[in-house]
Amino acid sequence: MTIYPVNAFAAPKGTYDLTPPDSATFLAVREALAAPLRRAGYGYIETPGFEHVELFSRGVGESTDIVSKEMYTLTTKGGTELALRPEGTASVLRAALERNLHKAGNLPVKLWYSGSYYRYERPQAGRYRHFSQIGAEAIGAEDPALDAELIILAVDAYRSLGLREFRILLNSLGDKECRPAYRAALQDFLRALDLDDETRRRIEINPLRVLDDKREAVQKQLTGAPLLRDHLCEACKEYHERVRVLLTAAGIEFEDDERLVRGLDYYTRTTFEFVHDGLGSQSAVGGGGRYDGLSEMIGGPALPSVGWALGVDRTVLALRAEGVELALPAATEVYAVPLGEEARGVLFGLVTALRRAGVGTDFAFGGKGLKNAMKSANRSGARFALLAGERDLADGVVQVKDLESGEQKSVALDAVVDELSAQRS
Ligand code: ATP
Ligand code: MG
Repeated sequence: MTIYPVNAFAAPKGTYDLTPPDSATFLAVREALAAPLRRAGYGYIETPGFEHVELFSRGVGESTDIVSKEMYTLTTKGGTELALRPEGTASVLRAALERNLHKAGNLPVKLWYSGSYYRYERPQAGRYRHFSQIGAEAIGAEDPALDAELIILAVDAYRSLGLREFRILLNSLGDKECRPAYRAALQDFLRALDLDDETRRRIEINPLRVLDDKREAVQKQLTGAPLLRDHLCEACKEYHERVRVLLTAAGIEFEDDERLVRGLDYYTRTTFEFVHDGLGSQSAVGGGGRYDGLSEMIGGPALPSVGWALGVDRTVLALRAEGVELALPAATEVYAVPLGEEARGVLFGLVTALRRAGVGTDFAFGGKGLKNAMKSANRSGARFALLAGERDLADGVVQVKDLESGEQKSVALDAVVDELSAQRS
């Protein structure tokens, strides 16, 4: 049993807190990753942080690492088996089915989400037990343009942040027509290799996952493995070619990666991953694909769908790796420093008025002396300090000090809000 950490303030293993000033970058990244989706008609969806275990065991797949090793499960006092959500797609589809969104007559149902996900993994740089994703799902339509749309939206999101060193890996996983024959051919090939027991079991349950084995000794033996590319049926081939043509026409460069399978069982046809070369072994910043069979796997009607999830934590690391500094506006534009009790009351009133006028404003709380208060003003990142003492109040003015140039001027009390609102535009 793990006891409470020695350092009582330590966050649980594999987790970290987001605190200012870095937390501002995370918010901006979430915002930027979601912005292209909002412009493309995706509506916001929020689902619970936990679900019934079966949703993931049926949807994501028993044989996947996510379900077999990485899921946090718990039994409630009432005996219900729940799991902290390890991913978003199964939950979003479940919610869409529960709410009958697919029956509202407007397919595809386009949804985006933002939230926390939990996986019991071996923590390392870029791999955490609690992490954050922005995701998108387009439910209920089979159209290569939809697959292309999602890939383009992710690229636009990364580009809007200033990321350059990411690549797109693209593959088709076939469908229920062509995958079974391929699966059998792959199993024949894999059974002849020298592999450990666990991997041998995997050959029987989910042979495609073996292609994704990261171990070099395994990868070596996989040379010459049959490729799905050579087994795709005409419909899948044609579909995939349409996606490729649409991406090319949109000026999107991608790499065909016949080995790309991804760690979730529900993918069919289009599958893709966004990788960043500055991240070492945790290089995937996002991934997704088509999941035409998932709805039926969790007990719903046939609803061909496609989606992706982008990792917020790794996107922030990718920005750092490329040395990209986001231009974040200072939260505080004005910092008010009262000199004396009477001024405290007057300036506090001004602070509220400035905020209501849309000017980010903070106040020297706690009765600090002038020197300390000015230090806080400088640290706050504010452009202007607002100072007032008894003499100023008697004259009906406050002093507005430009903290960059050091210039200071008197401004009439009733003109301060207008003056400072104008300064910022
Ligand atoms: P990996 O191959 O790195 O384990 P994955 O295929 O398991 O990634 P997905 O389930 O496709 O990842 O999740 C989408 C994105 O979420 C990933 O590309 C990654 O950016 C992020 N992500 C996944 N797991 C973690 C984690 N444990 N910590 C931080 N980010 C993660
Ligand atoms: Mg993983």
